[in-house]
Amino acid sequence: MEPQRSPLLEVKGNLELKRPLVKPPSRLPLSGSRCKRRFDQMEDVLEPEKKRTRGLGTVTKFAISHHRAPVGTTVPQTQGQAAAPKVPKKTGPRCSTAVASVLKNQKAAPAAPAQKPGTTAAPPKLGGKKPSKRPGWDLKGQLSDLNAELKCYRERTQTLDQENQQLRDQLREAQQQATALGAERRTLEGELARVRAQAEQGQQELGNLSARVLELEERLGTQEGLVQELQKEQLGLQAERRELTTRLEEQERRLQTSEAALSGSQAEVASLRQEAAAQATLLAERGERLHGLEMERRRLHNQLQELKGNIRVFCRVRPVLPGEPTPPPGFLLFPSGPAGPSDPPTHVSVLRCDERRGTLSGAPAPPTRHDFSFDRVFPPGSGQDEVFEEIAMLVQSALDGYPVCIFAYGQTGSGKTFTMEGGPAGDPQAEGLIPRALRHLFSIAQELSGQGWTYSFVASYVEIYNETVRDLLATGTRKGQGGECEIRRAGPGSEELTVTNARYVPVSCEKEVETLLLLARQNRAVARTAQNERSSRSHSVFQLQISGEHAGRGVQCAAPLNLVDLAGSERLDPGLALGPGERERLRETQAINSSLSTLGLVIMALSNKESHVPYRNSKLTYLLQNSLGGSAKMLMFVNISPLEENVSESLNSLRFASKVNQCVIGTAQANRK
Ligand code: ADP
Ligand code: MG
Repeated sequence: MEPQRSPLLEVKGNLELKRPLVKPPSRLPLSGSRCKRRFDQMEDVLEPEKKRTRGLGTVTKFAISHHRAPVGTTVPQTQGQAAAPKVPKKTGPRCSTAVASVLKNQKAAPAAPAQKPGTTAAPPKLGGKKPSKRPGWDLKGQLSDLNAELKCYRERTQTLDQENQQLRDQLREAQQQATALGAERRTLEGELARVRAQAEQGQQELGNLSARVLELEERLGTQEGLVQELQKEQLGLQAERRELTTRLEEQERRLQTSEAALSGSQAEVASLRQEAAAQATLLAERGERLHGLEMERRRLHNQLQELKGNIRVFCRVRPVLPGEPTPPPGFLLFPSGPAGPSDPPTHVSVLRCDERRGTLSGAPAPPTRHDFSFDRVFPPGSGQDEVFEEIAMLVQSALDGYPVCIFAYGQTGSGKTFTMEGGPAGDPQAEGLIPRALRHLFSIAQELSGQGWTYSFVASYVEIYNETVRDLLATGTRKGQGGECEIRRAGPGSEELTVTNARYVPVSCEKEVETLLLLARQNRAVARTAQNERSSRSHSVFQLQISGEHAGRGVQCAAPLNLVDLAGSERLDPGLALGPGERERLRETQAINSSLSTLGLVIMALSNKESHVPYRNSKLTYLLQNSLGGSAKMLMFVNISPLEENVSESLNSLRFASKVNQCVIGTAQANRK
């Protein structure tokens, strides 16, 4: 950029362009004193002009001594500086205007002074011709020449005066301008100082900014690194995004497929729901019908049981055990029923040879045949499953709410315990009625749960020995001996009986029942070692309290299932000598016989519908009073030994059982609430 030119310099430049303010001295040829006089005379003539020029002071003198130097270079220097007129603060355009006016004035100056010094000093030309040199004698001519020259000089002086005046004006103007420019210069200097200060400040700021720039560059470097990292990351993310987009598209495609499938499925579900609702209605109807059928089944089942008799007697003859004498052929006979051998046997015949009885001729009396008829007879080969099949219906009655009592009656060793509990543990074929009955009950209860029935089972197992009750499920310190138990009513006014100190164990599966039977065996085994074969001298009563409820219909039923292994029914041989042991045995036997006869009497009384039923005459009948008579169903197994030596006891048992079999106890009623 072109530096701003100072107005002061501008003026100076302009002044340089001017013509010299003072003309150089004339080069007219002046010779001798005459010349000198003429000059003096001329000086006098010029006096007023000289005086005027002197007024310019040094300027004029300067101009004269240095006539070739341009006036502009000298005139304004000192004078302008010394007496610079005050100029208005405004510079620029106004200054330019001033300079322009100076130039204008110069231009306006008359053309004559613009002649070069050399030309201006030449003698005036007359008529355009160079005057020829006049002879010495032509003074007149010379005078006229001089006059012409003088005239010419006067004219020129006049012109110079005018010029001088113009120059003075110009000078004044220039001085004013100089003053104004000086003021302007000071202002500018001030401004310059301020600008410098600003420049310094700017420098400082620049330094700060440079430092800041460096810092920012450093940060920029870091940021660039970061940006690169981010770019890398961005690239990675873009790739990931592309992958995700692809996956998303894939998922969307799958979603669309799934949605299509879903809408199809929803339609299917809707139709299935309708179908399900229809099925549910149907199911409810069928449930209703099923319940009705179930109640009908129970009624018919009960009728069937009643037709079969509320007291039924089954005779079971055990097989001959290894080591036992084989009975004579025909000793026990199992005649077929009216429908032939396919009919299950219901008769048993015992052939008894009484050696004491003789004929008149002395020949042995022919064997006496004793025929007995029962609801069912099981010959020695009958299995446990076969036996259970016959009582399964009775067990079902217990679930339907009818008290059930199953007894095993017979002499010791006839197979009562085998029938009730089973043979050696671990042989499933030899499993007795108790485990089979319970398994059957659990499975039917499970089936009935589908119809809305809920069943619970609580087991207890006691033995009655010599009219004392002991808990066979006792554990811990009571195990073996067992604390004495009492039969009490469950509550004041309650018909329900309970055995104090006895354990009542809830059972829901076979395994639990197995555990209880094992515990009972252990308890009996301990007792057996302490007292000779006590188990055969006591009644074992397994009781199962069955409670059922149909919550949906508010129907409840509860009944006990009793499985009783009675004490040996054998009588004491009256011919035996009565030692201390035998006396004890006699007491036991009397107690047993008493309780067994009480059982018979109770059944008789119930059958005869007597007003008094002697339940209280024995602990056994007292404990079982709610399961005998009335709504109860009873089944008695009469267990018979196949041996001939036991014929007397067998006949006794068969006679007792026959009596029971003849009894008919009134119509059973289910214990429904
Ligand atoms: P009880 O209890 O009447 O005294 P048990 O049940 O103890 O008689 O039977 C005596 C013996 O006869 C036992 O060894 C038993 O295993 C066996 N026994 C009884 N009945 C049968 C049967 N039906 N089949 C096989 N063995 C039997
Ligand atoms: Mg027994």
